Amino acid sequence: MNVLVINCGSSSLKYQLINMNDESVLAKGLVERIGIAGSVLKHEKAGMEKKVFEQPLKDHKDAINLVLKTLVDPACGAVKSLEEIQAIGHRVVHGGEKFANSVLIDEKVIEAMKECIDLAPLHNPPNIIGIEACKELLPNVPMVAVFDTAFHQTMSEVAYIYPLPYELYQELGVRRYGFHGTSHKYVAERVEALTGKDMKDLKIITCHLGNGASVTAIKDGKSVDTSMGLTPLEGLVMGTRCGDIDPAIVTFLMNKKNLNVSEIDNLMNKKSGVLGISGVSSDFRDIEGAAGEGNKRAQLALDKFAYTVRKYIGSYAAAMGGVDVIVFTAGLGENSASARKTICEGLEFLGISIDDNKNNTRGKEAEISKDGSAVKAFVIPTNEEVMIARDTLELSK
Ligand code: AMP
Repeated sequence: MNVLVINCGSSSLKYQLINMNDESVLAKGLVERIGIAGSVLKHEKAGMEKKVFEQPLKDHKDAINLVLKTLVDPACGAVKSLEEIQAIGHRVVHGGEKFANSVLIDEKVIEAMKECIDLAPLHNPPNIIGIEACKELLPNVPMVAVFDTAFHQTMSEVAYIYPLPYELYQELGVRRYGFHGTSHKYVAERVEALTGKDMKDLKIITCHLGNGASVTAIKDGKSVDTSMGLTPLEGLVMGTRCGDIDPAIVTFLMNKKNLNVSEIDNLMNKKSGVLGISGVSSDFRDIEGAAGEGNKRAQLALDKFAYTVRKYIGSYAAAMGGVDVIVFTAGLGENSASARKTICEGLEFLGISIDDNKNNTRGKEAEISKDGSAVKAFVIPTNEEVMIARDTLELSK
């Protein structure tokens, strides 16, 4: 059985066609600039060179149409006909409190997803547009929605409630939801395979460190706390997002700089984080490069990032009453030995000890803690697509 995994952003669409017999990726690709000049599809069939198709794509339906056409293209496609795509899995960012698990999509589910739009006005609409376009183009293919928030629905009220008037939670759903759930769950499941221990017997802290970044505390196999909140802005310092700040800074800046709501939102989401501190870039590779050449603000951005992750590790160890395993994943977590080393410096008191030789690794599963370290540390490349495909297979059987 083949499952097509789709991840729609506002002007982009990522896809993977996965053969579920062995979970191999038959083809994958990325459509960018949907609805704007210069639309482009970059498609890669397993074992073949990447192909680039440039053509106008006015909306997500056009984009999905082109993806489907390319998947059956005799020259670069991966299947002979669309009948070989037996199910479609969609990544959906916000499931609110409505979805604690993945779900087979029907009209009611789409309605419930629409009710979550207020919580993720930038993310949920393109996800829904992608679902509706697929429904039109492949009406008989079962579709499943997999939510970024679902894994974190196990958090206790104490972990998810904000100290604001309780009525705001009741009226508007203002609470911590958390994101990157599919990634945190995937790496936690890999910990079971790597340690030979049941997740239920471990206290795990998973650090998803990419352009967006979050840390999750997993106890008894469940997410018990996570650093992102109502939106993906809270928590760690990120590429362009500020993460935790004094909330009074918002009104202070609005007053002093005469900013309106969308301007302050833009400042915190797009101009802050390591980009804001360094003034160099949002990409950690550029910042590490600049810091290496003596740029002090670039170094400060790296130090602030590492310090924040370290504080979250400490606080989640406290929240769980200990920690057995730490995982690093996503772009920076998988690739930057220096970031991992700096984050773990000073955590020896918790029993975390990184082996410099073992830590000299990138992009593959590896244990990086010293032999005998009380807390094991791993690098585990994430694979959200395979998680989406697995749930899709399960629910569409
Ligand atoms: P992601 O959002 O998971 O795709 O991660 C993207 C981010 O990972 C990039 O913006 C980089 O900052 C970071 N990254 C990827 N590769 C490396 C690397 N080799 N060294 C340092 N940072 C990296």
